[in-house]
Amino acid sequence: MIIANKSQWRHVSRDNPCPVCGHATWCSVSADTCVCVCMREAKGSRKITQNGGYLHVIHHHRSGRRTGPQATTNSVPTHNEEIAAAVDAAWRNATPGAMAYLAAGLRVSLASLNSLHAGYSVAVCGYTFPMTDGRGVILGARIRTVSGHKYSMTGGHEGIFVARNFTPGPRLIICEGPTDLAALLTIGITDAIGRPSCCGAAKLIRHRVEDWRPKQIIIISDADAPGRDGATALARDLMWHCPDVRIMEPPAGRKDMRAWVCCGAGKEEIEQHITHAAPVRMVINHSCQGPTNAQ
Ligand SMILES: [Zn+2]
Repeated sequence: MIIANKSQWRHVSRDNPCPVCGHATWCSVSADTCVCVCMREAKGSRKITQNGGYLHVIHHHRSGRRTGPQATTNSVPTHNEEIAAAVDAAWRNATPGAMAYLAAGLRVSLASLNSLHAGYSVAVCGYTFPMTDGRGVILGARIRTVSGHKYSMTGGHEGIFVARNFTPGPRLIICEGPTDLAALLTIGITDAIGRPSCCGAAKLIRHRVEDWRPKQIIIISDADAPGRDGATALARDLMWHCPDVRIMEPPAGRKDMRAWVCCGAGKEEIEQHITHAAPVRMVINHSCQGPTNAQ
C-alpha cells in the first residue's frame, strides 16, 4: 500500500519533468519519487485520482534511477486501460455546450456530471460514465446516447458509479445508475454510489461495504417490480455486513430518484424519507435457515 500525503508531493518542472509523460507542467511526483500522478497518461496507471490524474508507481533501479511507467508490473489486472483512456479523452474533449445540454436534459448540475467524470465521445456518439471498482480502478463505462439509449462500452466489466470526491462515511446510499446519482449529488447528498442496474454489481458492492463498514445503508429502489426485487436481493446480502440496511422508494408518481429530484425534492425532503424508511429485518426461516426480508 503506497501512501503519500499532500505535503509529500512536488509539482513537476522543466528540471524535473513528469517521469510518465515527460511534460514539465500539471503532473506531480511524490517526494520519494516512487509515485507519480500524471494528468495525461492513463496507460500503466493503478487508478484515477480525485483530481482526475493517473496514479503511477515508478520503480527504481538499485542506483535509484527511474525506469518509467512500463515498470508497473503489478498493475491491477481488472483495470481496463483502453476504457480508462477512452472515458478520460471523452471527459477532456467534451465541449461545455455538450455537457450543458446533458445537464439541462437530465436536470442535474454540471458539477455533478463532472464529479462522475462524465464526458462526450464523438467516436460512440454518446455521453460516457466510467464504472469503477469503488477504489478508482476503471472496469467499464456506460454510454448514454443523445436520445437517451443506454448501453455499456464493449470490452469492459460491470462496475459502480462513484463521484471523484466520494469519501466512505457512516452512511452509504446506493441508487441506480449514474443519472440518479447525479441527481443526488446535485442536491448535496454526497454519501452515495450508483449501481449499474437494478440488480447489477451486487458482489462488488458487498466487497466495498466490507471495506467501508458503513453503519447504515440506504438502497434506493426504482418504483417497479425489477427495482424492488433487485433492492431486496442486495439488502439480504448486505445485512450480513451492516447493522442497519433500509430500502427506500421515491413517493408515488416518481419513477426514480432523478424524477423525484426533478419534481422539486430537495435534500431535506429526501433525508426525511430516509429517516422514515424501515430497516430490513432478518427472519430466520427454520425450514431452510435462510434470511428473508420482513420489512
Ligand atoms: Zn505526466
